[in-house]
Amino acid sequence: MKLSIFARLVIGYLTIFILAMAVSVYAIVKLHQLQSVTRSIIVVDNRLIDYEHKLSEAILSLMMYERKFIIIKDEALHNQFILTSNDFDRYLDGIMSVADTAEAKDILKMVKKNYQHYQSLFTHEVEYSRTGQQYSVDKYKEEKENAVNIIMEGLKKLRDYNQQNIYDKVIQLSQAEADAGSFAIVIGVIALAIGIMVSVIITISITKPLSLIKKKTREIAGGDFGSDLKLLSPPEIAELAQAFNIMCAKLKELDKMKSDFISLMSHELRTPLTTIKEGTNLFFEALKEGEATAKERRLLTIINEECNRLINLVNSLLDLSKMEAGMMVYNFTEEDIASLIDKAAREIEPLAENRNIRIEVSSNGALPPVKADIDKMLQVLRNLIGNAVKFTPNGGSVQIISQAAAGKVKVSVVDTGVGIPKEKTDIIFDKFKRATIGSSDKFSGSGLGLFIVRQILIAHGGEIWVESTLGKGSTFTFVLPA
Ligand code: ADP
Repeated sequence: MKLSIFARLVIGYLTIFILAMAVSVYAIVKLHQLQSVTRSIIVVDNRLIDYEHKLSEAILSLMMYERKFIIIKDEALHNQFILTSNDFDRYLDGIMSVADTAEAKDILKMVKKNYQHYQSLFTHEVEYSRTGQQYSVDKYKEEKENAVNIIMEGLKKLRDYNQQNIYDKVIQLSQAEADAGSFAIVIGVIALAIGIMVSVIITISITKPLSLIKKKTREIAGGDFGSDLKLLSPPEIAELAQAFNIMCAKLKELDKMKSDFISLMSHELRTPLTTIKEGTNLFFEALKEGEATAKERRLLTIINEECNRLINLVNSLLDLSKMEAGMMVYNFTEEDIASLIDKAAREIEPLAENRNIRIEVSSNGALPPVKADIDKMLQVLRNLIGNAVKFTPNGGSVQIISQAAAGKVKVSVVDTGVGIPKEKTDIIFDKFKRATIGSSDKFSGSGLGLFIVRQILIAHGGEIWVESTLGKGSTFTFVLPA
């Protein structure tokens, strides 16, 4: 997906926003529903209760007026009856307009029918009483009582029905409230999970290519230019990767130019240096008999040592060029590592004896043969033993201990030298890196030896590391597959 970082962030925020909106809309809809149930309780049910009270009171008043009128025939009581009867009609109309269920409406119809019957009975009685006609007072009384009882019963039924209705609605309300609460929580959690998921996906889509670039930068810092970075998305990072690849190509070119230059210079320097060294040796031999002064002898010795140093440096530079170009040739044969250790130790012994340093070679049991290039392996051993002697003060000791371990051969070069600061124990295996010991660096060197040693050991399928205590000594250990 070739979306820019900005577009990805916008999509992420939009998703979270839409989910939040969905939760809000749901909450609003639910609240609205709850509100309408509450309103129906307040508006409809409360008014029904109110009307029902008024109707009950009105029917009782009507009964009172009509009974009194029958006994004392006072027109004022008849008028009171008519006024109350009008109120009853109004309340009945009101309650009928509010009633919202078929059951309530049926009850009210029945109340109305009996009320009309009750009214007509009383109207007849009034007429009989005004015209002085005889009629059965008891029969009318009984009929009116029947009608009023039915009305009262109907109103009671309405009251009970209404109370049950309110109770049901309150239950429904609290149930709906609980449902809405849990639903909102579920939706909220889902929204949060989706939000987190979207953010994680977007973050990964940005950080993953960045970490690839970081890895590549580390590889370049370690001198490995490798292949191009192929990143197509997001576009900003694709552009960065493209610029990175261009920079990488330039660095590669520069590195090659540097290697070619070093290789050329080393070749050019080696021949004259060898000639100078041989010339100096001849001079030295010729002057041995005594014609030369002590000063001349010292001078020739220094020239000889410096020549050796330069030749070593040039050889190291040539090795480095070959390794970097991948052109170092290895000739593997089955070798006894113990005899190689002896050979290298014997070569360095005279130098060590000059400085009163003991070289001890020991082996813990028999060693299996290893597949190795003799010259390269001797180079490794010479370098490690040479360094041990170089960095050990006069009168110290160097031990070379070998042993077989889990299908491998392990060789340790232990010295009682100056040691290496902890923070330098890793970098000394990089090219041109040296551990500065003390305020002045009295040990000459190029910082290439351990780099070459490690490359040779890696080519043999082995590895090397160092353990050291400053001021006490160092132990360089390498293992080779047997
Ligand atoms: P060089 O010896 O030419 O400087 P090397 O690559 O052989 O280069 O060693 C790198 C650095 O590691 C040395 O400069 C030195 O600081 C440190 N070093 C190597 N071997 C020892 C040792 N046996 N004791 C103390 N320091 C050592």
